[in-house]
Amino acid sequence: MTHLRSVCVFCGARAGLQPAYARDARSLGRLIAVEGWRLVYGAGDVGLMGEVARAALAEGGLTMGVIPTHLLIREQGRRDLAQLVVTEDMHERKKVMFMNSDAIVVLPGGAGSLDEFFEVLTWRQIGLHEKPIFLLNTDGYWQPLIALMDNVIEHGFAETALRDYFVAVPDVETLATRLRAALS
Ligand code: AMP
Repeated sequence: MTHLRSVCVFCGARAGLQPAYARDARSLGRLIAVEGWRLVYGAGDVGLMGEVARAALAEGGLTMGVIPTHLLIREQGRRDLAQLVVTEDMHERKKVMFMNSDAIVVLPGGAGSLDEFFEVLTWRQIGLHEKPIFLLNTDGYWQPLIALMDNVIEHGFAETALRDYFVAVPDVETLATRLRAALS
């Protein structure tokens, strides 16, 4: 029996202004389900989180949601997931999501998504894991972040290897190819 592969998705609790963000979130949700991977995400039914989850569930995908008690109402925590883990706080949420995943995908999002991205990136930087981290750069949304990372390296605050710890992909098709390679 092959080991179940899980993809952790960090993304906005809002949908953002461009329809492309929700479109890509839905494509990713469908991809995860169709490939037989498990979606691990923030359990909410709002913004891009809701889009990914609804698309995965509509394709009969396996889902695991992780949400702290105090956000159950605000982020409309879904009760119809295969697994729902309610954590005490945000730290535990990130840890549980990470521990239960084989790859991490960061979709467009706000400060929360950035926090989640930097947590897994810095864990990678200090050698705590080797899980692949993908930034879905829908419509160039993450370009300023990529430029910032290059600036950090250019000014001597990180090894050039920092740039290798995450992969920015322009679309879901490219992401699919990279994920299949990483999870095979
Ligand atoms: P945002 O990108 O700001 O829309 O947030 C995306 C998700 O990240 C939301 O579900 C937030 O609740 C979550 N989030 C925000 N801050 C943290 C944190 N420190 N640890 C874990 N999750 C967080």
